Amino acid sequence: TQRVYIFGKNKSQGDASMKNLLGGKGANLAEMSRIGLSVPPGLTITTDTCAEFHSNGRQLPPGCWEEVLAGLQSVEAEMGCRLGDPAAPLLLSVRSGAAISMPGMMDTVLNLGLNDACAAGLAARAGGDERFAYDAYRRFLDMYGDVVMGIPHHLFEEQLERIKAERRVSEDTALTAADLKVLVGRYKEVYRALGKVFPEDPYEQLRLAIYAVFDSWRSERADVYRAVNGIAGLAGTAVNVQAMAFGNMGPTSGTGVCFTRNPSTGERKLYGEYLINAQGEDVVAGIRTPEPIDTLERTLPAAFKELLDNCALLEKHYKDMQDIEFTVQEGKLYMLQCRGGKRTGTAAVRIAVELVDEGLISEDAAVLMVEPGHLDQLLHPQFANEAAYKGDVLGTGLPASPGAAVGQAVFNAEDAEAWRSSGLPVVLVRRETSPEDVKGMYSAEGVLCQLGGMTSHAAVVARGWGKPCITGCADLQVDEHNKVARINGHEIRQGDWISLNGSTGEIVRGKQPLAPPELAGDLGRFMSWVDKRRALGVLTNADTPEDAAEARKFGAEGIGLCRTEHMFFASEERIATVRRMIVAQTKDARLKALADLLPFQRADFEGILRAMAGLPVTIRLLDPPLHEFLPDGEMTEVCEALAADAGVTVDEVYGTIEKLQEVNPMLGFRGCRLGITYPEITEMQVRAMLEAAVRVIRDLGPSSVQLDVMVPLVGTAAELANQEGLVRRVAEQVMSESGGVRVPYRVGTMIEVPRAALQAGAIAKTAEFFSFGTNDLTQMTFGYSRDDIGKFLPVYLEKGILAADPFQVLDQEGVGELIRFAVERGRAARPGLKIGICGEQGGEPKTVAFLHEVGLDYVSCSPFRVPIARLAAAQAAV
Ligand code: ADP
Ligand code: MG
Ligand code: MG
Repeated sequence: TQRVYIFGKNKSQGDASMKNLLGGKGANLAEMSRIGLSVPPGLTITTDTCAEFHSNGRQLPPGCWEEVLAGLQSVEAEMGCRLGDPAAPLLLSVRSGAAISMPGMMDTVLNLGLNDACAAGLAARAGGDERFAYDAYRRFLDMYGDVVMGIPHHLFEEQLERIKAERRVSEDTALTAADLKVLVGRYKEVYRALGKVFPEDPYEQLRLAIYAVFDSWRSERADVYRAVNGIAGLAGTAVNVQAMAFGNMGPTSGTGVCFTRNPSTGERKLYGEYLINAQGEDVVAGIRTPEPIDTLERTLPAAFKELLDNCALLEKHYKDMQDIEFTVQEGKLYMLQCRGGKRTGTAAVRIAVELVDEGLISEDAAVLMVEPGHLDQLLHPQFANEAAYKGDVLGTGLPASPGAAVGQAVFNAEDAEAWRSSGLPVVLVRRETSPEDVKGMYSAEGVLCQLGGMTSHAAVVARGWGKPCITGCADLQVDEHNKVARINGHEIRQGDWISLNGSTGEIVRGKQPLAPPELAGDLGRFMSWVDKRRALGVLTNADTPEDAAEARKFGAEGIGLCRTEHMFFASEERIATVRRMIVAQTKDARLKALADLLPFQRADFEGILRAMAGLPVTIRLLDPPLHEFLPDGEMTEVCEALAADAGVTVDEVYGTIEKLQEVNPMLGFRGCRLGITYPEITEMQVRAMLEAAVRVIRDLGPSSVQLDVMVPLVGTAAELANQEGLVRRVAEQVMSESGGVRVPYRVGTMIEVPRAALQAGAIAKTAEFFSFGTNDLTQMTFGYSRDDIGKFLPVYLEKGILAADPFQVLDQEGVGELIRFAVERGRAARPGLKIGICGEQGGEPKTVAFLHEVGLDYVSCSPFRVPIARLAAAQAAV
């Protein structure tokens, strides 16, 4: 196997298609020199070699070093100098670069090949420029010590500061050649003081530098970066060994970075910065303040012109915005790196649209170019400047729901509502949240929870509303009783301003400035291309008329899941009525409470049907275990209050509550089990739905309503048949009462119990539609409680037992197999059966792609994820 690929004038062995083998940097260096740009020659050691190196116990595989030496000879030939030759020393950079860019995670060494003799030789070759040679030498000793020998960079930095102080200068460039020689001596002293031996032999330097780059692949920060960004399955990093271009050869030299378009706004204008008389890392390290790229036109006009030409050429060639590193050596431009540039959501959409207009890419390519995460950013308010608040970050939790929230801290739902209604923006801070906090969460700009994971109650609810939320913050202690939270030595008291960055998990002190979500005009055009391409319908999960209207603005084509019970908490009166229904000791008492609930439900359904007029609306029958509706608090107080309100005895209430207490509520008395046990609950809900539909039809006409009544938690065909009978009986009754208004409705079921998936054929005989409830289906297929997965999920992810949280990204192998099976059986029993998904995963791009392939009719997701699901569905179809 070939392990080393050379690049250079007219002899590049690699190209841009070889990113997996050569890493992104290596593949693009080869490509740039192939298309005739001036790139210092070099060689790339493959990523596979990195894997071999580690499995060999940190040894290069046999023959590899010889290949490196052979490649080096061709570099030497092109450069006209040789590694370690004092008469004409070749200097090298040794650079990491994996298939996926991991900025700053791995190591680079510059100016390799110097020792005392070669430094003197370098000065002579540079026309006696000792300053340049010893500047390169001291930089090399620093980087080599840091990256290869494990000597902390700050020890060198201290020496640099010391000599600057001694010479009373503030800029590195003000040090003279003599100063730099002294500095070189002191840097060597740093090595000696730690008992380290600096290898004088350039070949030994090179060998150890290659080892260090391979080692950096396994460094902790690289591991963490890959984990956080979900990067898996790469062999390792490549190593690029490349001739140096010198940006530190005086006032006609320099180094810089630029984007071919503005990465924040997408504007088609070179964006970047540079430093005169400097090398590589100086630009990012912030030692000197770099100049904006425009001014390069004045300082180095020829190089600037060539840079502009190269940028245009590279954009044409790669058909995308590029991120470029360059160095100018005595007026001559060298290209050192190019790659597709990272960009904000705003920029991504604008660039994609403009590249189509410029004729560079097709609409298909534009649709593929914008990432779902880009749209996500566009739809949430953002901090005006994230860099500006770094000093005020108090701590970090899990980034559970993206976006920026700024408000005054409150510690319970009632305060949140009260403050909000008097016009004050609040951030709700809780130990954890329960369904009872929902209204308070709704009132808040954002939610901060000490406990919980990415799929905890707070997280799911917050994402549903597009509200920023941070959960699982280990450094946070919330004392709800005393209305104070402590985090890393700071106190957050009620009324204190705090800011949450739900995209990063940062908890920030004070009132940080926000910018509204930017819905640039390009977005509409872009989404029209998206919609032309997708096969999947995109519906939304919405529980209120406001959510429904919001989702419709985002392009939702109906409601795939309306959870009726979320409205039970909407007012004191409602929840009290629900509780009277629960503690009713007789059927009559229960019927009375249900009759009181009916108008509330009817009004909600009517609002939702109106908001979605002309589109399908799927309403689910009551699902959660009843005890979720009982108040929290001290047992005797709760019982007394409930008894007084419902006109029953305290003992009776106590007995009812005890009966409802469950060891495992998620597998308990819920879903259709409720409606089968208490048919009057289902009857009331269906009556409310149908009466609402009749009203809307009378007003807006017969095609304004398409009602889908959905039965939850079905495991057997008989369960569904039971509820279906009830639904149809009540529906017919309401329609006949209405004097002839026909309501188009269907009865279907959720597929969320594994047995239902297995029995899909039998169930489809009754069901007119299926909706995969993948939250419960995942929970029951894995046997993981979704509220407790946080305890072991991090370990599972870290040990590679799970590749992703299955409550966020659908498990295609297991749960997905059940879905495939149920789709096949269901459609065999009932051709044309309408099938969708309403679980949390329904808006997740990888899941959407899978469901497209399985042949679902639609996905349903929270309103803010609708545009993302539309994009993902289009990308799956292109
Ligand atoms: P990273 O991936 O962290 O950007 P690089 O390998 O690109 O690391 O290099 C770090 C810095 O060193 C960059 O600024 C780059 O431009 C500079 N550099 C790398 N190779 C050379 C070279 N052959 N000549 C001059 N500068 C170089
Ligand atoms: Mg770089
Ligand atoms: Mg469910």
